[in-house]
Amino acid sequence: MGLGDRAQDVAGGIASGISGSTRALGDALRAPFGDSTVRLGVTGLSRAGKTVFITSLVANLMDRGRMPQLVAAASGAIRAAYLQPQPDDTLPRFDYETHLAALTAPQPHWPESTRHVSQLRLSLRLQPSGLFGALRAPRTVHLDITDYPGEWLLDLGLLEKSYESWSAEVLARMARRAQGAGYLSHIAPLDAGARLSEPVAQDLAQRYRAYLHAAQAAGCGDGTPGRFLLPGDLEGAPVLTFAPLPRPDKAGRASLWHEMARRFEAYKSRVVKPFFRTHFARIDRQIVLVDVLGAIHDGPAALEDTRQSMAEILRAFQPGRNRFLSRLWQGTRVERILFAATKADDLHHSQHPALTAITEALMREARDRADFAGARTEALSIAALRATVETTLTHDGRTLDCVRGILQKTGKPAALYAGALPEDPAAVLNPARQGAQKWLDADFRIMDFAPPVLHLRPGEGPPHIRLDRAAQFLFGDKL
Ligand code: GDP
Repeated sequence: MGLGDRAQDVAGGIASGISGSTRALGDALRAPFGDSTVRLGVTGLSRAGKTVFITSLVANLMDRGRMPQLVAAASGAIRAAYLQPQPDDTLPRFDYETHLAALTAPQPHWPESTRHVSQLRLSLRLQPSGLFGALRAPRTVHLDITDYPGEWLLDLGLLEKSYESWSAEVLARMARRAQGAGYLSHIAPLDAGARLSEPVAQDLAQRYRAYLHAAQAAGCGDGTPGRFLLPGDLEGAPVLTFAPLPRPDKAGRASLWHEMARRFEAYKSRVVKPFFRTHFARIDRQIVLVDVLGAIHDGPAALEDTRQSMAEILRAFQPGRNRFLSRLWQGTRVERILFAATKADDLHHSQHPALTAITEALMREARDRADFAGARTEALSIAALRATVETTLTHDGRTLDCVRGILQKTGKPAALYAGALPEDPAAVLNPARQGAQKWLDADFRIMDFAPPVLHLRPGEGPPHIRLDRAAQFLFGDKL
């Protein structure tokens, strides 16, 4: 980190007024000259693969035998990697050891998924390269990884909406979904202009939350407010007790409508804005994980929802988008954004280019429209933990490129042919956009494979697909 960067860091800590600012100042002044920090944000909707990604990335940076595409690992420039206390002591620590223990147990299981924001600092000791590199003192790059739910990024859109416009939008969307029917028929006889009754407000919030969970389970990832799905430390807090209602003809100050609108505004100012200020504005590099295969398997509507959610998530990285964001980024910006389709080990490698092309296309619209203020973007298909091996089977006289693994549910081995992904992404994206009910002439399958029993040789991290490419793009230039 140069002195300028460090000064900016210190200023950032003071300006944001967060309680870690004193510590940030101390850290910056104590940091040996030549040390630098890369702040890597990891996000994606629930079950996209954030926890597995961070766990495997850190394990593969500690033992770098499977990271040939990360230049600093292959060249031997990384001399050591070790975990350190994170810089922000107001944040929970990413529970790396427990997650790794789950994956490396004699009977491995998938770790518990991300439920809130957490952080981990991995420090890399590097030998400078170049003509006199060997004569120079090693330097340290701190990789500060922040894990946070993508659902919380979707809340950014709420800042531009009033309670009335948000309600109208959400209720219209519910009317198009089977999962919304119960809530809509419940509120039909309700008069939002009537006097507020707290039990009614609580009941509505609970019903709305049940709808969001049901919609999410059906593959709809566009639910707001994000904290209703993943409350983090706000579980049960009054700021989460509101729900959408149709505007009544008349609504006094003591009405249900008025109180719901007040809580909606409180959610924006006390939950959404602080999250962006405290965690989001300090990210340099970002990976957005997307379960593209899962969405394709769930059908055209789920793929379209994913496209819209991704566009919405990526809009959070456009500083010029609104006043709040512009002020937040003030001169800083996310420099690189990687859009990664996860669980690519469900697919034979011959189909990975097609998966990447679909991922690229999902991202393209947002990217073309967006001004990422010069940020570099890339799309990739990855598996943070490879749970399958490739195999070729013959079926009805046809040769099929498949993968084989152990099924999570039964513990039995199974082979999977995920279906033929089209080479032209438009073949799935267009029907999805046009509201097709199901795929016309294709059938896509996925399976929940258990993590494999690992027999790691010394110096080897867990098996993966393109984790090293992802690392090279995200922070390889800083090493
Ligand atoms: P999060 O909610 O984003 O933190 O998601 P997780 O990292 O907990 O992943 C959710 C689930 O996806 C896991 O429990 C696994 O079943 C599956 N998964 C995640 N990464 C991989 C992967 O690389 N390969 C396979 N086959 N499954 C994965």
